[in-house]
Amino acid sequence: MTQRRYLLAESEIPTHWYNVMADVGPPPPPLHPGTGEPVGPDMLAPLFPMALIGQEMSPERWHAIPDVVRDIYSMWRPTPLHRALGLEAALGTDCRIFYKYEGGSPAGSHKPNTAVAQAYYNQQEGVTRIATETGAGQWGSALSFACARFGIEVKVYMVRVSYDTKPYRRAMMEAWGGSVVGSPSRDTNAGRAILVRDPHSTGSLGIAISEAVEDAATRDDTKYALGSVLNHVLMHQTVIGQEAQKQMAMAEAYPDVVVGCVGGGSNFAGIAFPFIAEKAAGKEIRIVAAEPSSCPSLTRGHYGYDFGDTAQMTPLLAMHTLGHGFIPAPIHAGGLRYHGMAPLVSKLVNDGLVEAVAYAQNDCFASGVRFAKAEGIIPAPEANHAIRAVEAEVEAARAAGESRTILFNLCGHGHLELGAYQQYLNGELVDSELPQSDLDAAAAAIAGMPAIA
Ligand SMILES: *Cc1c(COP(=O)(O)O)cnc(C)c1O
Repeated sequence: MTQRRYLLAESEIPTHWYNVMADVGPPPPPLHPGTGEPVGPDMLAPLFPMALIGQEMSPERWHAIPDVVRDIYSMWRPTPLHRALGLEAALGTDCRIFYKYEGGSPAGSHKPNTAVAQAYYNQQEGVTRIATETGAGQWGSALSFACARFGIEVKVYMVRVSYDTKPYRRAMMEAWGGSVVGSPSRDTNAGRAILVRDPHSTGSLGIAISEAVEDAATRDDTKYALGSVLNHVLMHQTVIGQEAQKQMAMAEAYPDVVVGCVGGGSNFAGIAFPFIAEKAAGKEIRIVAAEPSSCPSLTRGHYGYDFGDTAQMTPLLAMHTLGHGFIPAPIHAGGLRYHGMAPLVSKLVNDGLVEAVAYAQNDCFASGVRFAKAEGIIPAPEANHAIRAVEAEVEAARAAGESRTILFNLCGHGHLELGAYQQYLNGELVDSELPQSDLDAAAAAIAGMPAIA
């Protein structure tokens, strides 16, 4: 019998987070939008605890994971590595497919890996309240879970379209003690300004970020937390790839290709960055990032400086962007509806270390349903993009007469997105073609931004 799951003992939870900047260099620095100068630690201090600002800018390769954080990780870590024997059979391939499953965390995704770390450092520095945004609700629920461990209050600005269509995510956040409002909301200047222009705005992550940043910047007891994009967030996720490296060794396998889906880039970074270290050291391995064709920042966006949010409150980030005014179609992979991409992931794509692909949501759900039938687990709609990319690898391997070893991150389960599966199965999901004119209009908004040196 071929082994199906590779499990590690609790004692093998990684002791350090891996900082890829030590091996590939930092991305271009964030800039102050007014002066065009790099943003220093003091400018970020109203928003983040100093420990996280330090990690954001650190050149050190390894950062020790505090014992309290490792202890909370042990509620669901180490996570299993699965050999996808069922999917291999269903696809009729001799490729070996492995996946790391992050859906066993309390919130059902990879997000608690960073939420717990961020809540810990905030508590250490005396913060009693955190404001944040959430797309599909995964980040808001992960942060609510994490803050409940540390007695910190949470206010979540939830993108309106998800707030209306995903009531159970909201219940989850509230069960853990979070308070949730639909964004754009009437609770902030940023939200009110949008509602004046568009009372029926479906919202976007960019708008919700503006609201949460404003909340944190205007209250002494409150800081802000981001569930993706920033360097320290990506670093916290590297526990995924480090565990996977050990588990692949247990399986006596090494990936030819590592695949993850990308919204802001954090779960992808989690599985891929520890392998980027090996690629940077000369190992032959391909790394593939899969995004939705309706929000194609890496494959059709512009690599330059842009705001992280719609209301232009954040520093300028060097990233692949569709423009801070871009509002993606309300597709079901809510976690992938962000106009930009992590500066580190953008840099790696620009440097040619990471390949990017894009797929439409109906194709991705087809892959997700195939996976569910073959493997049992019903994937998060975001993860279906990674599965679609894995199937493309299998097709490419077949065409080339090769057998490849493929590793991907199954970043979450889809139990709270079954409404989306229902729509897909009823044939009701629409693929929104994204006309070039929409992209051109969004790009015009960032025409005057500083170029990347
Ligand atoms: C939030 C989320 C994503 C998108 O965020 P990344 O930072 O790109 O990982 C993808 N999948 C799931 C399950 C999520 O919760």
